[in-house]
Amino acid sequence: MGNVIAFRSKDFVKWADGVLEGVLRRSPIGSGVDYLTKDFFNWATRNSIYPLHFGIMCCALEMAVASAPRFDAQRFGVIYRSTPRQCDVLLVNGPVSKKLKPALRRLYDQMPGPKWVIAMGECAISGGPFYNSYSVVPGVDQFIPVDIYIPGCPARPEALIDAFIKLQKMIKENKKGLLTGK
Ligand code: SF4
Repeated sequence: MGNVIAFRSKDFVKWADGVLEGVLRRSPIGSGVDYLTKDFFNWATRNSIYPLHFGIMCCALEMAVASAPRFDAQRFGVIYRSTPRQCDVLLVNGPVSKKLKPALRRLYDQMPGPKWVIAMGECAISGGPFYNSYSVVPGVDQFIPVDIYIPGCPARPEALIDAFIKLQKMIKENKKGLLTGK
């Protein structure tokens, strides 16, 4: 009997994915696909912002109110999800303790790219009233790159919606193809 070379399905998908991606990225096909799809994907990305449903303290109440009928953040395509694997925005609010820091970083790492981070309220920006505490991280940007800061204690729901609109503009201005990244 001759040698039999077999792939497990998981390995085959990984191999095929790598080959396909390599061909598309290095050939003019990739640029062509990006040229045709770039606008559409950018439009879809900025109009379907999925923040992680994560809140620590008082600012989390303002975050909840922003999605209630009076402010209705969903009209901008903002829909909260409870798993980082379905999210593209990490919205941090409240004081981040040193104990929580590695877990929050892991949540960020588990989010697929492209992804963005919003620091909502003084606690997330600098530690807020707890900036001098032995147990609080003085700002989430100490361990995660932050794209948008929302000042306030608490940050109002209107300010959060304004941040989402700013993020949509930022995504529109940094339009990139999925395959070539250009
Ligand atoms: S910024 Fe103010 S309102 Fe927001 S979580 Fe901190 S203490 Fe509470």
